[in-house]
Amino acid sequence: MTNPEPAAPAAGRHDLLSLDQHGCAALAQALGCKPFHGRNLFKWMHKHGVDDFDAMTDLPKAFRARLTAEAEVARLPVSTEQPSADGTIKWLLELRDGQRVETVFIPEERRSTLCVSSQVGCALDCAFCATARQGFNRNLSAGEIIAQVRHAVQRIGRAPSNIVLMGMGEPLANFEAVVTATSVMRDDLAYMLSKYRVTLSTSGIVPNIYRLAEVSDIALAVSLHAPDNALRDELVPINRKYPLEELIPACRAYLRGDPRRRITWEYVMLDGVNDSIAHAKALIRLLEGTPSKVNLIPFNPFPGSGFDTSPPERVDAFRQRLLRAGLVATTRKTRGDEIAAACGQLVGRVQDRRRRPVAAVPAHP
Ligand code: SAH
Repeated sequence: MTNPEPAAPAAGRHDLLSLDQHGCAALAQALGCKPFHGRNLFKWMHKHGVDDFDAMTDLPKAFRARLTAEAEVARLPVSTEQPSADGTIKWLLELRDGQRVETVFIPEERRSTLCVSSQVGCALDCAFCATARQGFNRNLSAGEIIAQVRHAVQRIGRAPSNIVLMGMGEPLANFEAVVTATSVMRDDLAYMLSKYRVTLSTSGIVPNIYRLAEVSDIALAVSLHAPDNALRDELVPINRKYPLEELIPACRAYLRGDPRRRITWEYVMLDGVNDSIAHAKALIRLLEGTPSKVNLIPFNPFPGSGFDTSPPERVDAFRQRLLRAGLVATTRKTRGDEIAAACGQLVGRVQDRRRRPVAAVPAHP
């Protein structure tokens, strides 16, 4: 049995990366210091990337001593780093309990995107997703989500211009930790990303879309993948619980009538499954009246998936049909292809290797 909760920090220590600015201020107070000392601690950890409390020279000595004794800034050691020829880097980072998550950095001409994970594995069982094949192990803590960002910033030498919660896991099934982590991403004392540059991608957990609207205004991407309930029930099984007639109004409500905002709809193009002109027309009807951007994603194949990638001409015809109807539609470039930089593939490979029968493992490597 696996424990669905995050691994506890070492021996009851305060897990500092799991705290947002207010959490750090409250901790400082609880340790007998002023709230601004907590905010300075927060800034040292995130803006300056410092872990060593003794190097945080403007914190009172007594506070530093308490932090050294009772707190930690938990890094995630790198299990593997895979750079790709196009500049994409994928890391498999190791958690305290030995599980691993992936984080991907994708540089582009005028921006760079960091894709972070929110859970180890995923419970949602989308038909075409490699992460789903692992099943669900546990939620990440806010600190384990932010440690992915800190790792990338330190390794790359600068903050990414965008962060997307599109790695392993369903972010809205790990609500509290994800909300705390996104507030750290946005904080001026930390990574300073605007609300338009932090994107949460969800398969459509409707009640939590409404909950998110109450506490956050980050950008929302929704994994749609089908324009009708019958097909979406098969591809994204959470649709059986929260069908399109509930999902679409929740997404519209999330935008709160702000004309600068829109929902990004992710639509993975599966050969002969959801990629016909009839599907495009149904999609146009479905999205009518909702400020939208459609992101067509070429399916990233993996062994045993049972799906094929749509031919590029079909993806293009689909996109042209959407454009003609006045929708904003883009096709996602495949990046980091040779390192399988998307969708749980590296972890899949590592785990497959572990499942090999003992006899197949060479005795003397
Ligand atoms: N659980 C969240 C976020 C993680 S998946 C969600 O469902 O949105 C990030 C995106 O990658 C989702 O749109 C997902 O449907 C898509 N995806 C998953 N497997 C894929 C594959 N093999 N090829 C292309 N896109 C895939």
